[in-house]
Amino acid sequence: MNTKKISIAIDGPSGSGKGTLAKKLANKLGFIYVDTGALYRTIGLDVQRKGIASDDTESIIKNLSQIDINMVNVNSQVQILLDGEPVDDEIRTPTSSIYSSCVSKIPEVRLFLLDLQKNIALKNNVVMDGRDIGTVILPKADLKIFLHADEHDRAQRRYNELISKGEDVTYEKVLADMRWRDANDKTREIAPAVPAADAVMLDNSGLSPDETFEAALKIVKDRLAL
Ligand code: C5P
Repeated sequence: MNTKKISIAIDGPSGSGKGTLAKKLANKLGFIYVDTGALYRTIGLDVQRKGIASDDTESIIKNLSQIDINMVNVNSQVQILLDGEPVDDEIRTPTSSIYSSCVSKIPEVRLFLLDLQKNIALKNNVVMDGRDIGTVILPKADLKIFLHADEHDRAQRRYNELISKGEDVTYEKVLADMRWRDANDKTREIAPAVPAADAVMLDNSGLSPDETFEAALKIVKDRLAL
């Protein structure tokens, strides 16, 4: 049966807590969580593994035809496979963050990932997070939330996350990397990371993940008849 699927788009800058929120919402609603940033991170990882420089656009584009990337649904969790193998924390290092931002401004890379993202939302109820979900990938999403927060809150969260994973970083470096990535993502010519005109803005500065979830759940209940 081909019933219309429901999609919730959650966009926002790094460290806004989109991933944590999207995962919790998907869990609560019984939807599939799709982390689109992980797709760009995986392309970045592939580029990095092959020794291609992050600014070598020509080689990054040429390499697309050699990339074997897939998304599989394992118990309502989307797993990304690169060359048939699941990718994990290796896509979450500070270096991979920089690579992901560099590859994401190349139009050919965005086009390469377009159908993968659209198709999963055609076949499943999804909560999808990223930068351009409400504007480009799912412009007709049933609900769009743009999650944002003060940059110091965001840098602190990212710093805590990296430290808990044993990364050797300083707060200042995390803040500087985040500012660089935000500027890169917001000012790129294609699919810049900006809110859709019909997105609900949610500022979670000073809010805990649980408080953010409660605020978002209220928006979902107010806007969608679920
Ligand atoms: O969300 P996350 O920080 O994991 O995303 C990594 C990078 O991938 C971002 O800095 C951004 O450049 C890119 N991205 C994107 N469009 C998306 C999701 C992520 O350009 N929909």
